[in-house]
Amino acid sequence: MNAADDTHESRRCPGCGVVLPVSEWSPGPSGYNASPECAEVAGALLGYELDHQPALGHLHQLRIDAYGAQHVGPLTRPITTIFALNGLYMYLERGSGNLDVRTAHGIMANKYSDWPVLTPPEQVGTLTAHAVLQAGAQGVDEVEQQLIEWAAQVWAAWPGQAQQLVRDLTVQLVPERYFRR
Ligand SMILES: [Zn+2]
Repeated sequence: MNAADDTHESRRCPGCGVVLPVSEWSPGPSGYNASPECAEVAGALLGYELDHQPALGHLHQLRIDAYGAQHVGPLTRPITTIFALNGLYMYLERGSGNLDVRTAHGIMANKYSDWPVLTPPEQVGTLTAHAVLQAGAQGVDEVEQQLIEWAAQVWAAWPGQAQQLVRDLTVQLVPERYFRR
């Protein structure tokens, strides 16, 4: 954390590192390690997705999981982190869609409870929800591309050991039919 980024006017998100003007908006408590301003952006990105459902609807779960895996902190439940990484793994490496991942989460929650605690790296990718939303200035196709790139960066930033643990747990718990490759 760079204290120089924190002034009366702006604040740095502890999860993704984005520095945004301080907002009056105050979100309710969440397990995300995010600044209020970044949480507000996450809500705006959801709004953008809903306004562009035909182009972005297929990335609904990926957006949630990219944000989740980039904002892991002391208050984040271990299962939340595992599920976020599971979603990134299934989309990026196994070609799974929204429904596959949501179903997998339900199956995993029913079959297992001893979730390991995973510690995020110092920097979890360079793209942020804010950057993805800003890409809207160039059109929805750019947002779609940036969202996928963001998710890929977040997944790639996690240590290989954590990635492998998520791969192993997923393959162990989730039936083959939810993988598309
Ligand atoms: Zn953030």
